[in-house]
This record gives sequence, structure tokens and C-alpha cells, in this order.
Amino acid sequence: MSSRSTFAVVLGTAALITSFASTVAAQSPDSYRAATDRLIEAATKDSAAWNRIAELTDTFGSRIAGSEALEHAIDWTLARMKTDGLENVRGEPAMVNHWVRGTESAELITPRRKSLAMLGLGLSVATPPGGITAPVVVVTSFEDLARRGDAVKGKIVLFDVPFTQYEATRVYRSTGANAAAKQGAVAMLLRSVASFSINSPHTGTLSYESRLSRGRGTSSTTETPVRRIPAAAITVEDAQLLHRMQDRGQPITVKLVMNARTLPLAPSRNVVAELRGREKPDEVVVIGGHIDSWDVGQGAMDDAGGVVVAWEALRLMKTLGLRPRRTVRVVGWTDEESSGRGGLAYRDAHAADVDKHVFALESDNGVFRPYGIAVAASDSAVAMLKRIAPLLSRIGADSVTHGESEADVEPLMNAGVPVAGLHVDGTRYFWYHHTNADTPDKLDPADVAKCVATMAVYAYVVAEMPEVLPRKQ
Ligand SMILES: [Zn+2]
Repeated sequence: MSSRSTFAVVLGTAALITSFASTVAAQSPDSYRAATDRLIEAATKDSAAWNRIAELTDTFGSRIAGSEALEHAIDWTLARMKTDGLENVRGEPAMVNHWVRGTESAELITPRRKSLAMLGLGLSVATPPGGITAPVVVVTSFEDLARRGDAVKGKIVLFDVPFTQYEATRVYRSTGANAAAKQGAVAMLLRSVASFSINSPHTGTLSYESRLSRGRGTSSTTETPVRRIPAAAITVEDAQLLHRMQDRGQPITVKLVMNARTLPLAPSRNVVAELRGREKPDEVVVIGGHIDSWDVGQGAMDDAGGVVVAWEALRLMKTLGLRPRRTVRVVGWTDEESSGRGGLAYRDAHAADVDKHVFALESDNGVFRPYGIAVAASDSAVAMLKRIAPLLSRIGADSVTHGESEADVEPLMNAGVPVAGLHVDGTRYFWYHHTNADTPDKLDPADVAKCVATMAVYAYVVAEMPEVLPRKQ
């Protein structure tokens, strides 16, 4: 933002006086307090948002990309948004992955028979029809795997990697099958990426990769796909059980059966609804979450909660007659989980006006007690958002930190848009993440309401304040 001294030099026209006056006003976030207090009070007076999460997820269940349940949930959400009086309610087309789990099982055969609770990893290939029965080698890291060289050939590799932090542990889920296949393994098992377990497997996506190799005696490089081997998560408890058996020198054999199929891309939609700006309708503040989920549980935490809190934030602005200067747009992205194709489709559909996106805030860490926002933007944008934060002190959501982008707003961030994620208490998220236990009872209505308030206050003030957040160059 320009300094006062700069303004002193250029004062003289009415336009600049207006600019000066509004800049001063913007420096005092208290000027928004009457409106933001109303938003906070309306958001926290009842359990409307939690009720909506429960209704959405109880009615449609899990919503994996490519499924009828996802499309029905999108239809329902669009219809309700229209009933709420939101504007420009529409589904914006996106082609999405279509992976179908099919029946699956894992059984410990030796040293004793035991059924292993499991979930195939998203996008995994199937086993042959009769399954794969093979010896298991338990490893604790990629380095451990590499040290074993050919010893894993023809075997099932189990990565028993304790949860430390999501990104660090997730890499085994995303690329473990690839690493094991390169050394000749026939299947990959994974200790679930979970910070707590009561014998629940956690799914999530994997990615098969190609590797570049140089032809012998030539300079040409060819891309050879690494063999795609089936991959599944087992529970933390069973991973440790197998590990202990290996430590005792007991030969371990597992039978893995998976009938997963990958079908052609399927049509889906990003859910979009707006409150058009009263002065600058072309400039847009985006808030949202992803409407799809994994095909287990009900996708309440991940991420019906994110979609609903953004939706409720907009509905409250509408109900309270708070129409900011710029447009506030709710987006419920499709297919975040298996591919991120919804976020990419949104960016492509809005390529012509991406420079009119002034801020994008996503909630995708569960709608637990909010602390504030984690921002991926320039220092000056973070500083401006920090001035808004005290408006949320009364509900303890006034933290503004530097953070990583959330998945669906990352394409916008890469196009220069300041983005942020709702920063919440993450204690329990990875207890339930991508499991059958992701159901609305895990969320506290009072916490959900505070998430609505936090989103509403940032969306409203950033859409209302005279200046825009500086973009990253
Ligand atoms: Zn998510």
C-alpha cells in the first residue's frame, strides 16, 4: 500500500482525495466491525452449517469422482443454493477421473491366517483375478527398500512408516508402489497414513510414474512406464504386527485380491454460486472446498465441511443484506481427491479473468476449531490480511500465518492470486481422514459455526475494502 507521504505529494484531485480517504479507512479495520460482528453472531447463533453438512453427507454418502452419488450431491447443492437466493448458481463442467474400487481383500496366510482390514489405494490397478499370494518384505523407508535390492523381487513390499507429518508420510502412499515395482515387487502394502488408529485403513491416491531410460549405445531417451502394481493400505496395527513377525524371522505370506477398474474420464461439475459485487462485480473473492470425497465414509470432514462453510458464509451475507463492493463466489470443486481436475478446470474456465481474482480461500483440513488462516501470498498481502484478523479475536480465529496453498486454489496461486487455507485445530483430522469414519459426528457444530464466521469475515472484508491484496510477481 502507498504511504501517506506519497499521497501528500499527489493530493489535489477529487479522485485522489477519495483514494486517500478510503486508504485511511482501510487502515482501520474497525470500520468493518459492525458488519463482521453481525456475520459472526449470525454464524454462531445456531447449528445451521453443521445440519447442512449432516444432511448432505447422510443423504448422498461418499462422493468419489465419477460416481452418481457425487453428481446427485452436486444437483442437490445447486438446487439448495438457488432456494437460498444466491446468484449465478451453476455447475461449471469438468472432466474427472473415474476409478471404481470393486471387491477387495487381504489375508495373512502365514505364519497364521488372519483377515487384514484394507482399502485399495485410489487409482490402483487390480490384481490378477485369483489375487496375488506372495511373501511380504517389511521396509521402513525408501532407503530401506533400496538397500534390499533384488530381495524384494516377486514379493509384496509393505511400507511400515510411522506417521510424522502428512506430507512426509503421504509420499509413501503416492510413490511407494512405483518404488517397489522398480525393484521387482509384485504388490505394495502401506501402513495407513494416520496419526491414530483403531484398526481402520485409510485410502488415498497413488501415482504411477514413467521412468526415462537411455537406449544402449545411443543418445536417444525413451520413456518406459514402470510396471503398475496393485497397492493397498492396511491398518497401523496390522503393519506393526507383520513387522514384528519379520523381526522374529517368521516367513510372512499375504494374499491380496483387488478388482479395481479405471474407466474413461467422466463428466462432472464445479459448483458455483455468487453474491455479485455492488461496485466491482468483475472482481472476485473465491471461497470454497471440494464437493467430492473418497468412496468410503461420508466425506463430512473431507470435504463437505469446506463447501458448506463457504456456502453458509455467502448465505449469511445475503440474508443480512451485506453486499460487498466485489463479488464473493463460492466454489465446490469436483475431483480434488483423485486428480485435482476440478481446480484445474476452474482455472481454465476463468483464464480470461484470473487477474480479477483478488483472493481465494479454501477449507480442506476439516472444519474443526478455527485458529485463522494460513496464507500463500506475498508478505504485503499477508500484512494486509493481518490487519483484518483482530475482527475475529472474539472467536479466537485471529491467527494469520504463512502457509502452503490448498490443492484446489493452487492453480490460482500459480497464476498469481493470493490464496489461503482455513487454519484449524488439526489434532483429529488424520484420525479419520479417508476412512469409513469420516462422518458428521466427528465435527462439533460450534466449531463448524466458527469456521463459517471466519470465512465470512475474510470474504466480506477482502471483497469490501477499497484496495486489493497485492499479487505475487
Ligand atoms: Zn480434502
